[in-house]
Amino acid sequence: MRKVLITCAITGAETTRQHNPNLPLTPHEIADAAVDAREAGASILHLHVRDVEGNPTQSPEVYRQTMELVRAKTDIVIEVTTGGASWMSLDERMLPLSLDPEMASLDCGTMNFGDETIVNTLPMIRQCAAEMKARNIRPTIEVFDLSHIDASVRIMEEKLIEEPLHYGIILNVPGGVRYDVSTLDFFARRLPAGAKWTVAGIGGRASVPSILSALAMGGNIRVGFEDNVYYEKGVLAASNGQLVERAARLVADAGFSPATPDDVRAMLKIYK
Ligand code: ZN
Repeated sequence: MRKVLITCAITGAETTRQHNPNLPLTPHEIADAAVDAREAGASILHLHVRDVEGNPTQSPEVYRQTMELVRAKTDIVIEVTTGGASWMSLDERMLPLSLDPEMASLDCGTMNFGDETIVNTLPMIRQCAAEMKARNIRPTIEVFDLSHIDASVRIMEEKLIEEPLHYGIILNVPGGVRYDVSTLDFFARRLPAGAKWTVAGIGGRASVPSILSALAMGGNIRVGFEDNVYYEKGVLAASNGQLVERAARLVADAGFSPATPDDVRAMLKIYK
């Protein structure tokens, strides 16, 4: 039976309690939300953390504390962000890699992100990919634009990224490429042969349609408050777990099953 990876992006850098009062912020809240997400069917936790004021931080201490709490309670695969927040330097963004997580996100290009810009020059992408390779961390190669796919292929030819490949196709960021099924299909077909991919449709309007598309097209799914705070139009989600629960239900309705964390470790050859 086909196994579908469900990633839960629990907190992100941009979402606030004003967007959804149920947003987990502290290490304990994030760990509890990770347990809920795992129990609902998620196999990968895409992890951002916040400081005591609730602002995004890449502090290894906060990551360490959060990762220890998560690992004490659940076997979910932890993927730390190296995107961080738009104002952070690359060195700051890369700090959580020092904790040797199983996975990390690798942003493969520069783009508009809302009213801000995310900067990832080729030398920055190389530096980040090389650090992950040296630490045996499996990247999720994040692509928000076709040029990011081409940049990733260039980095791959330089042997900085190795198979098995896992892409995150992130669509509908304000200022970025919109989500629709033909755009997702075009992105998926432009990936290197054999690559696995996970779609994240940003915002309430793209979330469920992107799940359905991924199920039909052979892809995997990302949900969570980083990407979308609504359960349905005008109704805030009660928790990350509620969003995962629906994703897992759609996976089951399609005749597939949610992958377990150990399935992910085997599929993506994560050795830690
Ligand atoms: Zn993120």
